[in-house]
Amino acid sequence: MRIAFATSECVPFVKTGGLADVSGALPKALAKLGHQVKVFLPLYQSISVVEHGLIRATELQGIPVSIGDKTVTFDVWYGHLPNSEVEVYLVDCPLYYHRPTIYTNDPDEDERFILLQHAVFQILQRYAWAPDILHANDWQTALIPVYLKKNYSWDRLFDRTASLLTIHNIGYQGRFPKETLYKAGLSDDLFYPMGPYELEGAFSFLKAGIVFADVLNTVSPTYAREIQTPEFGAGLDGVLRMRSADLYGILNGIDTEVWNPARDRFIVEPYDVHTLEKKQKNKEALLEEMGLPYASEVPVIGIIARFTYQKGLDLLKPILESLLRERAVQFVVLGSGEQDLEDFFAWAARTFTQQVAVYLGYNEPLSHRIEAGSDMFLMPSRYEPCGLNQMYSLNYGTVPIVRKTGGLADTVFDIHEYPDIGNGFSFVDISPYALYVTINRALDTWPNTDLWRTMQYRGMTTDFSWERSARAYEDVYHKALAKRRG
Ligand code: ADP
Repeated sequence: MRIAFATSECVPFVKTGGLADVSGALPKALAKLGHQVKVFLPLYQSISVVEHGLIRATELQGIPVSIGDKTVTFDVWYGHLPNSEVEVYLVDCPLYYHRPTIYTNDPDEDERFILLQHAVFQILQRYAWAPDILHANDWQTALIPVYLKKNYSWDRLFDRTASLLTIHNIGYQGRFPKETLYKAGLSDDLFYPMGPYELEGAFSFLKAGIVFADVLNTVSPTYAREIQTPEFGAGLDGVLRMRSADLYGILNGIDTEVWNPARDRFIVEPYDVHTLEKKQKNKEALLEEMGLPYASEVPVIGIIARFTYQKGLDLLKPILESLLRERAVQFVVLGSGEQDLEDFFAWAARTFTQQVAVYLGYNEPLSHRIEAGSDMFLMPSRYEPCGLNQMYSLNYGTVPIVRKTGGLADTVFDIHEYPDIGNGFSFVDISPYALYVTINRALDTWPNTDLWRTMQYRGMTTDFSWERSARAYEDVYHKALAKRRG
């Protein structure tokens, strides 16, 4: 298949979140399955053409695009995703993309991504490259499915092209005033209360994409269901329910080159499922690094997270002290964010000097050592579209304790609820009590070495590779083509 993949961020060029990881990994995995993939993204100021070996596309210079009353021109640079055949096209427009940050609150934020989306079509037209699939991601490229059916439907090149919109985070919707329709080159006949373009009085790129895309997906099956409810849908649950039959959930993969306990260059003693005893060495080293005493029979619970409301770590506040007084357990915490959570963990480390150690900040090598050296990993998220750390934990033989939501619910199965496939512990209620009970359940299970080994084995032998995800995307692309081509 020919796939045009449009995104606002992509590793290794530019990253603010998970979308960049997906954009850097999925196209490569698709190429390995034999597909031709072209990636499109803006040439932000921060992207060095020299460092990435980008080449100016001499045949694609000064291409004009009408945005409202303006005519804006762009150039194109191209390169490849590292170690792959995947071509990357970067849209060069200093007027829009030379800003201190990649996303802004500037009054022309709408124009910045309108340009990107037109540029995708213009580049494809100039190469006469007819994609089977136009794959859009989040609000920044969500108008592409709309443009395919409205603005570029005259071009026979796209006659057989189907569209997929992937929602990585429903919280960002690209809401703009009605006037943006004109800049976007769309007529206002579909802008009316509850109509395809309208969301709470605003023009939402994401809603328009949801209405027009041939098929939709999000980054886990459970999150795909959750966003169809008022609690998780952020105002879009209604329109998502209307598209329910075309909405799929596909788990992201993990980078198994970087996150592999047998080849991890950050840990003292690499190990695999057959040499699990070596995990002890990593535990010893971790505790020494963090200044805690080591005892093989005392379990260590790891935490790595952005300290935000989403991650649910505040649920620990009323219960941590009791847990530490009642149980032989240690916590190793890595993260930063909201001040009151930083203060809370700093207090815990000061008060329980033998049981709690905290690193406030971002530290990638340490995050690997926590995954390798901990016995359990805690992730009590309020919501979690996919989540990576629980997948790393499973593959590292570090038994996860999670709230049963989003991608966590699709990857972690409670050992007491599902004895035959259980690989961790989970709870449903967003309450400190539910968390307390669940951590205690994990601590009570820990001495049962055989059962623990079974859980570790299940986690470590689960395939979270991008190849697996890419095959699932392949299926969804076929569904999109079937819809488009009848
Ligand atoms: P989210 O994308 O919502 O932050 P995920 O679990 O999907 O949550 O991914 C978080 C990623 O960021 C993981 O790779 C995790 O290891 C990493 N991470 C988060 N906080 C830190 C930190 N303080 N230091 C190092 N890595 C971190």
